[in-house]
Amino acid sequence: MSLSQVAISIPTSPTLALNEEARLLREKGESVIHLGIGEPKNKTPITAILSSAAKLSSGDVKYVPTDGTPSLKKAIVRYSEENYDRVVAPPNIIVSDGAKQSLFNILFTLCNPQDEVIVIAPYWVSYPEMVRMIGAIPVIVTPEDGTFVPRFDEIERVVGSYTKAIIVNSPNNPSGMIYPEDLISKIVDLCERKGIYMICDDIYHKLVFDGKVAVPACKYTQNDVENSKIILVNGVAKLYGMTGFRVGWVIAPRKLVEIMTNVQSQTTTCVSPVMQAAAEGALSGMQSIVESLRLSIQNNRDVLMQELHSFTDVHCVKPQGTFYALPDFKAYCRKSVAKNSVELCQFLLKKALVVTVPGKEFGMEDHLRLSYAGTVKELTEGIERMKWALDPNAPGEIYIGDRKLVRDWL
Ligand code: PMP
Repeated sequence: MSLSQVAISIPTSPTLALNEEARLLREKGESVIHLGIGEPKNKTPITAILSSAAKLSSGDVKYVPTDGTPSLKKAIVRYSEENYDRVVAPPNIIVSDGAKQSLFNILFTLCNPQDEVIVIAPYWVSYPEMVRMIGAIPVIVTPEDGTFVPRFDEIERVVGSYTKAIIVNSPNNPSGMIYPEDLISKIVDLCERKGIYMICDDIYHKLVFDGKVAVPACKYTQNDVENSKIILVNGVAKLYGMTGFRVGWVIAPRKLVEIMTNVQSQTTTCVSPVMQAAAEGALSGMQSIVESLRLSIQNNRDVLMQELHSFTDVHCVKPQGTFYALPDFKAYCRKSVAKNSVELCQFLLKKALVVTVPGKEFGMEDHLRLSYAGTVKELTEGIERMKWALDPNAPGEIYIGDRKLVRDWL
């Protein structure tokens, strides 16, 4: 069979593949703990349910404008004013099927084959694959000092004549780090000087801890949206725990939005008006929902840090936001049980029924990404099982459900 070389070269999303593996194990009755999944456990905000239900029960569910319904766009305009202090007009907005499609549309619209897009490691798994999918080249910047935050000069030195854009995701999936203001302002300045687009993936922007703030890039530009190099991506998936609704959006100069709209009109036509109504309900409803989610996730982060403390030879940079941490499991990646982070994840799933995601997928081998978006019980039990499977100092026996397991491999 002769198929597209590009399509064949794209691996499946590892997180989605792991979700599927965990689902199949659960179907078989296995008590799997999922520390891989990137979604909060909260119920959909009531305002989102009501407004989407109203749309659905109107019986008038048809095609709507490709770039988004006028009323959702209005809600996004308000959101931008309130959260970014940024004046945005509806023609600067395009709504897509999740921030994932937003990002794909941006890259597809910006890049010619051979153009380069700077991606900072650790990075969200989909960035390099999306860049490759459109024939462009991801240029990965990995902080040399082993931290999760690059120095500005590490970014600056990879900028060349083919550089089209840089993707900045702060707070960062998978590390949970917020990039320092100084770095953000220097990247804005670099992009404006060199005519490079700065794609800000702000999907976690309000999930920040300990009073820290992820200062938006637009604070550092004198330019209005129309004349700016900053392209902002956001959505309802993470802040409102509405991952299944698939609504994200982009704020960009209108020329860019126009072209993205043409692209989207030839691919998905529009986002379902039922889902757009839900997003509008979330954005217009009580925002205390985001705050209570943030607080419960911050508490989970504290529990996770405490649990990891007693894990021999595991080091974890304390996340400042998101619901992920990226602890260093180097000590366990050079052992007979596992030679690298991929094998370590497989081992943990097989022996301890815990889903984690290999750091390799995020450009950080020897690490595991752990999600703490679930319950405290899942977190403590999950880490306890991981210690049992890996840490020679942990008790050698454990109960998983009513099954007693004995470690016989260390
Ligand atoms: N950006 C980042 C950094 C993410 O972690 C995710 C989801 N895991 C997305 C974008 C995609 O969000 P959505 O569900 O809205 O497509």
